[in-house]
Amino acid sequence: MEDKPLLRSLVPDQISTLISASSASAYRGQQLRQWLFKHDATDWEQMGNLPKLLRQNLAARFELTGLQLQEKQVSADRTRKFLFSLRDGHTIESVIIPMADHATFCLSTQVGCAMACTFCATARGGLVRHLSTGEIIEQILRLRLDLKDEPLPGLRERQFNVVFMGMGEPLDNWTALEPALQTMMHPDGLAMSRRRIQVSTSGPAAGLRLLVAAAPGVGLTLSLGGSTDQERRKVMPVPGRTSLQEALTLAADYGRVAGRRVTIAWVLIKDRTDEPAQAQRLAQMLKGHNFKVNLIPLNPLTDSPLAPTANPAVLAFQQILTDAGVPAFVRASGGRDIDAACGQLRRRRQ
Ligand code: SF4
Repeated sequence: MEDKPLLRSLVPDQISTLISASSASAYRGQQLRQWLFKHDATDWEQMGNLPKLLRQNLAARFELTGLQLQEKQVSADRTRKFLFSLRDGHTIESVIIPMADHATFCLSTQVGCAMACTFCATARGGLVRHLSTGEIIEQILRLRLDLKDEPLPGLRERQFNVVFMGMGEPLDNWTALEPALQTMMHPDGLAMSRRRIQVSTSGPAAGLRLLVAAAPGVGLTLSLGGSTDQERRKVMPVPGRTSLQEALTLAADYGRVAGRRVTIAWVLIKDRTDEPAQAQRLAQMLKGHNFKVNLIPLNPLTDSPLAPTANPAVLAFQQILTDAGVPAFVRASGGRDIDAACGQLRRRRQ
C-alpha cells in the first residue's frame, strides 16, 4: 500500500482549504497550522484543542511524521549531525551548525544526488529519490526540537537560519522545494524572514531558470568548481553541462529580481581548484558584478585522494580575489571530527 502523504507537505493555505472542505469551522485551520508549524506536534494526541473526530479524519488521510532519528553525532565544535530514516527506509542527513548569535540548519532535499560532484560523498550512490515537501519541513521541526531539548548556550531554540546545502541538488527538486519555501516564509507557517534562508546550488540551468521565474527572494549560493567550462566539468560533471557564463548570468538575474547579492561558493581542493591562475580567471569573471565569494577548504572524504588546500594557499587565493575588488571570505567547514562532509555519515551507515 502507498504511504499516506505527510500533512506538512501542504502549505498553510492548503491546510485552510482542507479544513473548510471538511466543514469544520475556519478557526480550526488556524489551530491546526499552529500545531504543525509553531508547536512542532509529532503526535495527533498532542492537538488537544481539536475535536477528536477531526483528528481521526485527518489521520485517516495523512501521516503526521515521516522521519525517525537513527544517529546523532556531536562535534567538539558543537556541530550536531543527524541521520534520519524515512518511511521507505532510505536515510538523509541534517546538521545544526552553531554560529555566534544563531544556529544554522543545513537541510537535505533529495536522497542521494544526480550531480556527481567529485568531492562529495552524496554523489557516490547517485540519485535515489526526491524528498517531499513534508520531509523537507520536518527536518526543521526535528532540529528545532533537538535545540529545545539541548539548547545551545546563549541561544533561544527559535533563532535559526536555514541553508539548503545538505544532501541533494535543491533546484533539481523544485517541485517540493518551492512549497517548502512558501511554508517557511508564510506568517501562518514557520514565519521565517527570507533573509534567513539560503538555497545553495551547483547551478543546473533548468533549476536556475525556475528560481529566477519564481523569485522567492531567499538567498542564493552558486557553487562553481572551475574557472573554465572544462575545469568545471571535471569537478562537477553534471552541473558542468551548463556553461559558466550561463550559470553566472542566471545567478546575476536572480540577484537582481531578489534584490540580493549572490554568493559564489568555491571549494578549495589541493592541486585541483587552488591554482593562482584559477583565482585570476575567477576574479576576471566576477569583477564588476554583484557577487561575493565564499572559499571553502574541502571537507575530505575518508575514501578519496582529494585533499583540502593548505592555509597559505587558501590565503593567497583569497588575496588575488580581494586585490581585484571581489569580496572573498574563507569559510571553515564545521565538524571535522565527525562525519561532517555532506553524505558521509549516511554512506558509512550503509
Ligand atoms: S555537492 Fe551537492 S550537488 Fe554536488 S553531488 Fe553533492 S549534493 Fe549533489
